[in-house]
Amino acid sequence: MTTLTVAGLDAGYRDFQALFGVSLDLAEGETVALIGANGAGKSTLLMTIAGALRPWRGRITLDGLDIAGLPDHHRARLGIAIVPEGRRLFPSLTAEENILVPTTGRGGPWSLDALYDLFPMVAARRSHRAGLLSGGEQQAVAIARALAANPRVLLMDEVSLGLAPAVVDGFYRLLPRIQQSGVCILLVEQDIDRALAASDRALCLLEGRVVMAGDSAGLDRDRLISAYFGAPSAPRSSATKTGPAPVPPDKPVPPGKPVPPGKRVPPARPVPPADPEVPR
Ligand code: ATP
Repeated sequence: MTTLTVAGLDAGYRDFQALFGVSLDLAEGETVALIGANGAGKSTLLMTIAGALRPWRGRITLDGLDIAGLPDHHRARLGIAIVPEGRRLFPSLTAEENILVPTTGRGGPWSLDALYDLFPMVAARRSHRAGLLSGGEQQAVAIARALAANPRVLLMDEVSLGLAPAVVDGFYRLLPRIQQSGVCILLVEQDIDRALAASDRALCLLEGRVVMAGDSAGLDRDRLISAYFGAPSAPRSSATKTGPAPVPPDKPVPPGKPVPPGKRVPPARPVPPADPEVPR
């Protein structure tokens, strides 16, 4: 059964359009990976679904209800939760106080005890201020906070960013337990192999448009990587079929450096404070 539908979504910032006619759906219990280079529009899509940005055009429906015009707190009550890029915790509140911030009133499997069972490291640091926790502990708190709302749809924006590979491995080992709770997940992940391994389906965004979609297990990696870079489709090669995916560029091209074909250099954007007091 389809839980979330996005149809023909256009969105952006002032007069800058970042998404063009994006459509996707998420079935109950399904995980869909959202893949794309920096500036492709992944965070914009997640924020538009969560209600932090108003869509310019298009429909967003949750369990058949049109939520595109609803404010973010109303969407949260209906079951949309986001783990935002950069975590956005209240640094002066304890880990537990941060987890208890969402007051959606939604019942479900994710009680505080269940969350501490999922993240023993958070249980051990529950009374510590969030701002004093390690990056991995903060990310665990951010995921726990989103789950505490007992969402129908969990939007996860680059939870691996800036974390040690062993910590990231730990999060991905926990993902099946989150998936088993029935929530559907839209997962933004820069590591293509990890994203495909953790998802049922994948979508590739390029310059705000969906340029490729399909079952994660059956997607042609060469074509996906070409779509990621915006390059013409490469012939399938046995070398790239079995080897690791190339590491996509995750930094804007520095001034003076040549721009690779198909690479779009995003315009400068305002940088939010690292740990604002008010989470989005
Ligand atoms: P990243 O991995 O770098 O976060 P992304 O795929 O999530 O990339 P977005 O952050 O959604 O991409 O950005 C999409 C486009 O919108 C980019 O061109 C970006 O520069 C622009 N953009 C993002 N936030 C703003 C903003 N607050 N104001 C203006 N433009 C913005």
